Amino acid sequence: MSDQPPPYPGVTFHPNLFRPARGERCLLDGCRGACCINGIWVDLWHAQRILQNALAIQPFLAPEYQNPDEWFTTDELESDDFPSGLGISTAVGPRPGDPARQGCVFLRPDHTCGLQVASISLGFGYPGLKPVDCAMYPLLVSEGVLQVDEQSPGNLGGADCQRDCDGPKRPMYQVFREEIELAIGKDGWLEVDKAAAER
Ligand code: SF4
Repeated sequence: MSDQPPPYPGVTFHPNLFRPARGERCLLDGCRGACCINGIWVDLWHAQRILQNALAIQPFLAPEYQNPDEWFTTDELESDDFPSGLGISTAVGPRPGDPARQGCVFLRPDHTCGLQVASISLGFGYPGLKPVDCAMYPLLVSEGVLQVDEQSPGNLGGADCQRDCDGPKRPMYQVFREEIELAIGKDGWLEVDKAAAER
C-alpha cells in the first residue's frame, strides 16, 4: 500500500499501455535488479528527503556505499517532469552482489533496493524513500501522459521488467497494474481498463 496519494492524477493514457506485453513481470531472482544499472534521476526534493533520513538508511546499505556524500552525483537535469523542476542522479559503482556489473549505490548484495528496505523498517509504506520513478518502471509519466517507457530498456541492457512466458500475452496495463495504481490510484487503473474495453 502506498504511503502517498497517487502522484499523477489527471494523466492521459498512451496507446502503448494496451499493447501485449513480452511476457509476465520479471522476478528478482532472475533479473537481479537489471533496471538499476545506471542509477536513477531523482527529484531534488525527494533526494533531500533521502538525505534527511540518511542515518536510518545507512545500516541497510553495503559498507562501501554508506557515505551520504557519495550517494548523488553533481549532474543536474531540468525538467517539468520533476515536481521541483530539477533532478539529480544517484551515483553508480560495482554492485555489492555482483561486482563485475555496475549498479546504483542503493542496491544491496541481495539485489533489493536499500531505500525500499529502509522504508519498510521506518514504516513509510510503499514506495516510501524509493524514488517513484523506480517504483513505476517500466512505466513513466511524461508531459501528462502515462506510458510504457520504450527508450530506457535500450540503455539498460534490455531490462524491461518482463520475462518470457508461454501462453497468451496480456496487455501491458494488466501486467503492470501495480505500477499504474501507484501512479494514478486504483480508480485510475479502472479507467485504463475501461478505456481498453472501448478501443
Ligand atoms: S534507487 Fe533503488 S530501485 Fe532506484 S535505481 Fe537505485 S537501487 Fe534501483
